[in-house]
Amino acid sequence: MSQTKNYYKILGVEKTATFAEIKKRYRELAKKHHPDVNNSSQKAENNFKILSAAYQVLSDKKKRKEYDQQASYRKSTSSRQDRQRSWTDPGDDFNFRGQRTEYQDDFRRTTTEEEQKYDPDFPTRGFDLQFMLELPLVTIALGGTVPYSYEKYVQCQDCEGTGSDSEGTCATCKGKRLVVQQATVDVKVPPGVGDKFTLRIPNEGGEGKNGGPPGDLLIQFITQPHPRFKRRQSDIYAEVPISRELAEKGGSLEVELLDSVQTIRIEEDTLTGEELRIPGQGAGINWGKKRGDFIVKFKIEDE
Ligand SMILES: [Zn+2]
Repeated sequence: MSQTKNYYKILGVEKTATFAEIKKRYRELAKKHHPDVNNSSQKAENNFKILSAAYQVLSDKKKRKEYDQQASYRKSTSSRQDRQRSWTDPGDDFNFRGQRTEYQDDFRRTTTEEEQKYDPDFPTRGFDLQFMLELPLVTIALGGTVPYSYEKYVQCQDCEGTGSDSEGTCATCKGKRLVVQQATVDVKVPPGVGDKFTLRIPNEGGEGKNGGPPGDLLIQFITQPHPRFKRRQSDIYAEVPISRELAEKGGSLEVELLDSVQTIRIEEDTLTGEELRIPGQGAGINWGKKRGDFIVKFKIEDE
């Protein structure tokens, strides 16, 4: 995972190191890692580049200050992401950075990695946000529109996303350029969407920094258990208790389906476990208007 590098660690100095200390340390390391003394290996060259990048930032008063600010911002946002993804399967490789790079690649290719890492004015894509949305089985089965409220990062209005104002560091965003704001989006639930399916809603994630594009919102659907209905793909199963008398003599019975009530016929000598299939009253098929079946499973009371 390409995380932003810790320049202090690279140079092996404390965060409080003076310019003289940084310079001295850089000279020592530069001698050791210079490609000329390392048979010009690719690895040595890379090490030397990273070292130079670290020194360029930490030896420049302004750049160092900005780097420090960014570091504290990264820290606060990463702990936030960890909370949001804490429910995901630990074996699942999904994570925010990993997910983002795929969509960010085109956007990022315009500059080198090292440049973006410490340039606070570099346009950065907003965070992707993933949440779980628990919905009643009926909503999942039939689809619908569900408003969803969440928190996301947006550009700080007080400093117009610059991180500073006439008095110095912006007090509202503390120089982070972004603030947390409540947002609401209408989530369109596809009819018969799979349990644990994740829907990507473009551009509803965190706002980008410095004019970068927004991230996406990812909603994972979780079906709340229903007291009577069970879903198997596009079919819905319901156990319906009937009296012994009705089971023996036969007759009619009102049954509550997903979105209607129907009167069904009970045959004579119906046994526990017998099924009645009602076509087209199940869950949506392939996110469309067509529906699966509703299957009534009889259970004779007192048996
Ligand atoms: Zn601000």
